[in-house]
Amino acid sequence: MQDLPMNFLDVPTLLQVSATFNVIAALAWLVLAKAFRIAPRASWLMVASHLVRVPHLSCGDCMATAPVAVRLVIPELLLMSSIVLLLLALRRMLGSRVRPRHIAWISGVGAVSVVAGAVSGSATAPQLANMLSIALLAGLAVREISRGVGDRLSRAITVCTALPFALLSLLSLIQAAMLLTVHGWGERLLASPLPGPWRALIGLVVTVGISLTLIALMIWRLVMRIQHLTHRDPLTGALNRRAFEQALAEAQAQLARGRGFALVMIDIDHFKRINDQHGHAAGDAALLHCVALWQANLREFDRLGRLGGEEFCALLPLATPGDLTTAAAVAERLRSQLAATPLRWGSIELVLTASFGVALPAQEDAGGEVALVRADAELYRAKAEGRNRVCVATHLVPAAA
Ligand code: GH3
Ligand code: MG
Ligand code: MG
Repeated sequence: MQDLPMNFLDVPTLLQVSATFNVIAALAWLVLAKAFRIAPRASWLMVASHLVRVPHLSCGDCMATAPVAVRLVIPELLLMSSIVLLLLALRRMLGSRVRPRHIAWISGVGAVSVVAGAVSGSATAPQLANMLSIALLAGLAVREISRGVGDRLSRAITVCTALPFALLSLLSLIQAAMLLTVHGWGERLLASPLPGPWRALIGLVVTVGISLTLIALMIWRLVMRIQHLTHRDPLTGALNRRAFEQALAEAQAQLARGRGFALVMIDIDHFKRINDQHGHAAGDAALLHCVALWQANLREFDRLGRLGGEEFCALLPLATPGDLTTAAAVAERLRSQLAATPLRWGSIELVLTASFGVALPAQEDAGGEVALVRADAELYRAKAEGRNRVCVATHLVPAAA
């Protein structure tokens, strides 16, 4: 591959382009970190990751006269450091909470092997250790992306995002395989102070691809953050009224296609007393307690919204349209769980209860307002009948349902 003709760009120019790209990318991340304060820690790690690459890329054949051990160790360690910093930035961007043990192990063992290989006078061992470490680190990046993004992005976009890292891992593995199988390959790579044109070009393409990926992930993270801020109630994290009404209108539109749902309107009982007797902070803690408990008892695709104050509504998609029995059972579970799980507030335990109104939507209703009114009427009935109970709008269910 080293001998293939490639006249349109010479290696020193490719390396300069790559160095310049790294400097510009570092400056861009610096602006994000300092001026806009967007994910500052991840951005600082990206600045470092790009800058670490610059000295080696811009020094051309300045290492030509350096001892072989130095020529082997410095570039390999700089490249590995750059990938490690990049991986740490990626983890921060994706909000990974797992301790980076694997990264420390792979880079630690890799770095020691590079140095030991160079000291032992081998041309192959340091490059092999570096290539294998980079292959593993890039593989970890692929894993971080697929875990961090989860099902929040389409499969195609996730694959595109992970592709530059997968490519880096594959190329490193190919290089490692060539070092092991092609006799004299390590010495051949070392003989020239500059990489071959294909290696330089592929290096540039992978660097640009990875940078674009990181920028795309940063934009995705910002969009997710904005969506969270605009859709969620800041205190409890439940959907805010606007987002819940939007979800309800969507569910109502699905009704005509045979996908049913039920609404469970919820109001905490005597909530004002909690505020009055224990203070507003206790009231806030009670709201958080209820939402955490209810979220844990709802399915992933159920939606819980805070409509205002201590009033909530759960939207339950139904496998069988009109299945009030299931909806009532869910409401009863939410009620009994709350009554059985007191809130610990300092040294006291506060027993909380809530009243529930369950209803089905009407076909002819555009935005789901009728369903809300029906569920609200049942909630009102539950309050009137003594609170801490579930009332169900059974009288509205058509006889055939
Ligand atoms: P009921 O059993 O009839 O529902 O009585 P209630 O006391 O729960 O209802 P009421 O409507 O009389 O009181 C609701 C209280 O909720 C009044 C308001 O101060 C309080 N509240 C509304 N939003 C918040 C909030 O975000 N935090 C806290 N701590 N209190 C809130
Ligand atoms: Mg109340
Ligand atoms: Mg109320």
